[in-house]
Amino acid sequence: MDFEFSEEHKMLREAIRDFAEKEIAPLVDEAEAKEQFPVELFPRMGELGYLCLGYPTKYGAGEMGMIGECIAIEELGRVSAGISSSLMVQSGLGTEAILHRGTEEQKQKYLIPAIKGQKIAAFGLTEPNAGSDAAAIESTAIKKSDEYIINGNKIYITNGYICDYVVVAAYTDKSLGTRGGMSLFIVERDTPGFSSKKMNKFCGRSADSAELTFEDCAVPAENLVGEEGRGFYYLMESLDAGRISHSARSVGLAHVAYDAALDYVQQRVQFGQPIYNFQAISFKIARMAIDIEAARWLMYRAAWLYDQGARRLKEASMTKLFASEVAFRVATEAMQIHGGVALMAESPVQRYFRDARLGTIGEGTSEIQQIVISRRLGLR
Ligand SMILES: Cc1cc2nc3c(=O)[nH]c(=O)nc-3n(C[C@H](O)[C@H](O)[C@H](O)COP(=O)(O)OP(=O)(O)OC[C@H]3O[C@@H](n4cnc5c(N)ncnc54)[C@H](O)[C@@H]3O)c2cc1C
Repeated sequence: MDFEFSEEHKMLREAIRDFAEKEIAPLVDEAEAKEQFPVELFPRMGELGYLCLGYPTKYGAGEMGMIGECIAIEELGRVSAGISSSLMVQSGLGTEAILHRGTEEQKQKYLIPAIKGQKIAAFGLTEPNAGSDAAAIESTAIKKSDEYIINGNKIYITNGYICDYVVVAAYTDKSLGTRGGMSLFIVERDTPGFSSKKMNKFCGRSADSAELTFEDCAVPAENLVGEEGRGFYYLMESLDAGRISHSARSVGLAHVAYDAALDYVQQRVQFGQPIYNFQAISFKIARMAIDIEAARWLMYRAAWLYDQGARRLKEASMTKLFASEVAFRVATEAMQIHGGVALMAESPVQRYFRDARLGTIGEGTSEIQQIVISRRLGLR
């Protein structure tokens, strides 16, 4: 057993932390207020090699594994959970199916520009009537000569308003259901019939979320990702990675909320002494520290397993569930410890609390994670 990060990973953490503090932190307040992702970060991060860190060097990425990706997301999550969500989609769900199943032409046209930060990617699965139940999507893609005609609506799509393309799930043959009927397509934003409308939300405000409409959207047949009818399998393939990196975001967020609480308890004086001296407060801090430590190692173990090539959906779901609940517990306690000041709009602590609320819902709710885990416990 070895709990040490490699020298390369340690250097990556230092570099990303430094970058996030110097170049992202100054943008956060405005992004939150305007509810607008600072898009200039994409080319900048592409230039520095910080996008799609786990992808192969042959496409210009860092090949630093899921551990590298988690280090980056954890560090970005400390500065802004919203911004890290948007970057996570670029380095994960928005590009992963193209990496694993796309043609060489699709990789040249869509993947490499995403790694360089020249194109922004989004991923569209969720619909008004299909959230946890992804098989219930109603979007269709009907083949007509050398095109597919896509119709449907997607909601809550991260990067949906700013993206250059979106990887969309739609039924090519509804009668076959998920076993052969669902497919994935790359839809460029300037495709006639495609439109996106920004959605307002109370958390993750520095990432953009959008409702997408596809109205007789004709996409060339070469924009089908992988084989027709295999879309649901491809989605399942990318679940582990998405859940592990989602945990990294939660761990980063929990950490920054903890740091704020730890500073505050030493500064805030009541009854003639720092509030840390009250056991009711110091015990809260102790529990927060334990929670974060446990969540971090569960997450890095799942990332390590992933890098060994093992498909471990159970471990990915465990870390996603636990880390998101830890982030919420820690952010809630950080609010309590700060008292009234945390409730003021200018306090970063209320942002941590709001952002933590998303963790147990996005990328599969906690209830769904428990279904996945309980089905894989090897009952006798
Ligand atoms: C900010 C944000 C960003 C997002 N980004 C994207 C994106 O980029 N792309 C994308 O495709 N989607 C995205 N999503 C969608 C996200 O994945 C879904 O919100 C999530 O899967 C839950 O679906 P739902 O919101 O429709 O909730 P529902 O599925 O309607 O669930 C409602 C409640 O019922 C519970 N429930 C449902 N089924 C069961 C069951 N079988 N057993 C027990 N309980 C159950 C749920 O756990 C939940 O508590 C995003 C969502 C948000 C909020």
